Amino acid sequence: MLLDKPGNKWSVLDFIEIGMKGMPGAALGGIDVTYRCNLRCRHCYFLKQHYHKELSIEEWLEKFEKMKAEGFPFMICGWIGGEPLLRKELIEEGRKYFKSNVVFTNGTIELPYWPDVAFSVSVHGTAEYHERITGVGPEVYQKIKRNVDRDDLDVVISFCVTRLNYKCIDAMLAEWSKTAVNGIAFEFYTPMKGENSELWLNWEERDRVIDHLVSLRKEYGDFIWITDRMYRLMKSDMAPGITAHCPFSKVGFSLDPMGRTKIPCQLGPEADCSRCGCILPFFSVLLTNRRLLIPEFAVSVTKRGVQAVSKYMHRHMPVRLHEA
Ligand code: SF4
Ligand code: SF4
Repeated sequence: MLLDKPGNKWSVLDFIEIGMKGMPGAALGGIDVTYRCNLRCRHCYFLKQHYHKELSIEEWLEKFEKMKAEGFPFMICGWIGGEPLLRKELIEEGRKYFKSNVVFTNGTIELPYWPDVAFSVSVHGTAEYHERITGVGPEVYQKIKRNVDRDDLDVVISFCVTRLNYKCIDAMLAEWSKTAVNGIAFEFYTPMKGENSELWLNWEERDRVIDHLVSLRKEYGDFIWITDRMYRLMKSDMAPGITAHCPFSKVGFSLDPMGRTKIPCQLGPEADCSRCGCILPFFSVLLTNRRLLIPEFAVSVTKRGVQAVSKYMHRHMPVRLHEA
């Protein structure tokens, strides 16, 4: 039975159907596994949402069964939070429902041997910068590195670019490209409405960083995880037009630790969509536009074979539904 099979659950037929009909609603999204986290990052939106309760595992499984009965597509799920590996048991059971799963972790807890999932590990800078953002010292940074430097797992680093850390992008690439991780996804900080914090890069600065990342892709290739096409959409002349009508609402779902729907996305109602730096809306543009989606798939087929196409969905899940 499909749900019992480890590893890939996508078939070529799935992709043909997506190519012909487009992505169904609620095709991808995130579940807040827990309200708890063992870090206190400066850019964290989740802690500002002040959750203090979570559904039990039994209640989540009941919810999934109900969703199944209602025809929920169970395609791509990001397991987020909080620190989701504080509650592995829920992911152990819950991930069986979805075709692709991505666990968004801060890397401080040893990664379980789950070869069927992708891990997105937040490391927002080299040791010194990581400490400025998370408050934890170099010994924790080295522990994270040991935890995630695994060639038996599919690991990508998630780097939330802010004013505090953009200067270490080159050093980050030089350091982490020597590890077993598959790449780094550089996204941008999304401020809350009215926020004028030191974290947000203005548009001009953000464009410069994007240009730099695109030029670094010539050297590092796909180790820089986000494609040129998606970075193009994130620039100042295009991004506000996209996020003003964020396409995530057409294809996404977001559930909080109590299993309630979050609006408009995992970042919650206070997020300033006009300055969104998450890959989610831009990735959703591809998912909701067959003219763009089919060439992206075609590139994957040509470059890496059909197996890689199934990995495409697995890996191109927005890598920062939250900023963990
Ligand atoms: S914060 Fe970003 S991802 Fe969330 S709804 Fe707004 S534009 Fe979309
Ligand atoms: S950003 Fe992630 S790791 Fe950091 S405090 Fe928030 S939930 Fe925890």
